[in-house]
Amino acid sequence: MKRTELKRKTPLKAKTPIKRGGSQLKRTQIKPKPAAKAVRKASKKSSPNAGLEALNKQARLRDGDTCVMCGLVVIDRLSNVHHRRNRGAGGSRAANVISNLLTLCGTPVSGCHGDVTLRPAEIHAERYGWKLPTNGKQDPATVPVLVAWLGWALPTADGEWLPVEVAP
Ligand SMILES: [Zn+2]
Repeated sequence: MKRTELKRKTPLKAKTPIKRGGSQLKRTQIKPKPAAKAVRKASKKSSPNAGLEALNKQARLRDGDTCVMCGLVVIDRLSNVHHRRNRGAGGSRAANVISNLLTLCGTPVSGCHGDVTLRPAEIHAERYGWKLPTNGKQDPATVPVLVAWLGWALPTADGEWLPVEVAP
């Protein structure tokens, strides 16, 4: 008996090419989901960046929209929030906590954000707590930060600055 050949009803479509570039930008621009959806999804495994925008808002609120490094008031996008320990190298989840976030002026290539990203050694970013070693294990809430309007302070886990004494 002759076998019937499998037929496709529609021809195979060409694969959509993967868009390159701008993927990092997109990640920071995830729109918040409506509350009901967010609650329903809360129990499911969420992406490492889920809730990041809310955290960024919390950091901006804590800092009064002011650059922690120079005291300049930041009026533009929420993306002016810097991760003291970056989100790479499997550290995504640990990096997304309020104590790890600082409001900084500029972009990753300009202003204070640019300085801490591009020339951290020159500006002693680790000494001043603006940057944490990528592979370090410290809880960011335990590493003091030199804050433009406060001096040395600890970024608490619940989103406050706690002024502290740091030996010179
Ligand atoms: Zn600044």
